[in-house]
Amino acid sequence: MSNQGCDIGLIGLGTMGRNFVLNMADHGFAVAVYNRTAEKTKDFMDHEVGARTIQAGYDLQEFVGLLRRPRALILLVAAGDPVDAVLRELLPWLEPGDLIIDAGNSHFTDTNRRFKILAAKNLKFMGMGISGGEAGARSGPSLMPGGSREMYDRVAPILEAAAAHINGEPCVTYLGPRSAGHYVKMVHNGIEYGLMELIAETYDLLKRGLGLTPAELAPIYDRWNREELNSFLIEITAKIFTRRDDRTGQFLVEMILDKAKQKGTGRWTSWDAMDLQAGTPTIDVAVVMRDMSGYKEERENSARFLTGPSPIFPGDRERFLGQVQNALYAGMIATYAQGLALLQKASTAYDYGLDLEAVARIWRGGCIIRAALLEDVRTAYKARADLPNLIMDPRLGKEFMSREADLREVVKTAVTLGLPAPGLMATLSYFDAYRSAVLPANLIQAQRDFFGAHTYERLDAPGTFHTQWEED
Ligand code: NDP
Repeated sequence: MSNQGCDIGLIGLGTMGRNFVLNMADHGFAVAVYNRTAEKTKDFMDHEVGARTIQAGYDLQEFVGLLRRPRALILLVAAGDPVDAVLRELLPWLEPGDLIIDAGNSHFTDTNRRFKILAAKNLKFMGMGISGGEAGARSGPSLMPGGSREMYDRVAPILEAAAAHINGEPCVTYLGPRSAGHYVKMVHNGIEYGLMELIAETYDLLKRGLGLTPAELAPIYDRWNREELNSFLIEITAKIFTRRDDRTGQFLVEMILDKAKQKGTGRWTSWDAMDLQAGTPTIDVAVVMRDMSGYKEERENSARFLTGPSPIFPGDRERFLGQVQNALYAGMIATYAQGLALLQKASTAYDYGLDLEAVARIWRGGCIIRAALLEDVRTAYKARADLPNLIMDPRLGKEFMSREADLREVVKTAVTLGLPAPGLMATLSYFDAYRSAVLPANLIQAQRDFFGAHTYERLDAPGTFHTQWEED
């Protein structure tokens, strides 16, 4: 700590905040902390801080007084109204030039709004995504900061020390102005939804289709994690399949209610993709399937009388396993492709000036969607910064196409067995639509013009046209 105060402050000693404070302190930074519920602060100071240079403020005035000027402080409180509530209480104690970094999962439009309000008070603001969960916050997350370059530079030594490192490179960089950081984090989460849905579909195909138990699934996903599917989500999936339930001795995964919860970031990604007409079907379907998982009772009732084919796969099991692995890898490529194509469009629409190579670089470590594949994604954007879609990268396009037949086979099998695999199906249709020079949208245009005089464009002449489709 300098003799004028702590290097950085953090408000919100929840799961993420507590761990991120310890992380920053372990890198030699003096940290001031504050939490709304004072008992939590006391418990943290008494049991977790040890010899680290961490000081606590038990009210905001005391907390702010602990910070070196100009102050820099991070908010890690629940997203939404709590962020506005904390800002309202905090502002009277701050001075022009002080910097607030909102590191929660705030919606990017909230970040833009807060940016303006604080700028009018001569306060500096950054929106920063953080990914990696509890363990990442503690030992090195991926950080996605947006705001001004000058403010990033002010806190860069702290952020770069605390972030995960891959081959000596920190998983943090300045991403762009205003809400650029929170936007990138939102899309990160959208991709996370897509990947989790695809993995869940492969689990269903192998469980219900092949009748494999968690004990049999664990080594399969573990092997996949040592091959091209190498990623955090596959790694934890393999581990999940090995875990026994303390209460029953059964495999824990089989004892967990099949209702997936969500906090909204996947849905936000789909919404904004629709607003920007970017098209992220694998992510959209992932949100829909979490919603459908929610009506468990309705599904249980309908399962009694809505019948379908037998889910038991009758063919070559080893061959099918290989096809599923390839289908999942193709799905993974297409999910990153959709997310990054959305970022490409958002960068133009919102004037973020995103460098997608840098985005891929900071996602390689620390975060939930880290994967070996991101090295290729990075290389793709390094070769061509304005790549409209990852599938158009010569290497990744080839990787996808060499697995396309297996993806098609797996989708066909899922249809035949009556097992829902909408993520894999949406991925395949996305690919088929993207590679179609001609789509049936001409008919949709004709229908729109027929019933609403919405006009259409022609293939052979410029301008807009309207046809009187029926005689009066
Ligand atoms: P927790 O639920 O563990 O902690 C929430 C924190 O917010 C607590 O310190 C709580 O204080 C504080 N808080 C809530 N409401 C208010 C309020 N009205 N005024 C003041 N403080 C308030 O949350 P997490 O640590 O999990 O998450 C924090 C942020 O990080 C969220 O935006 C979350 O989306 C994001 N995030 C979470 C990840 C995770 O894996 N958990 C990963 C990446 C981002 P009190 O103790 O007084 O209740």
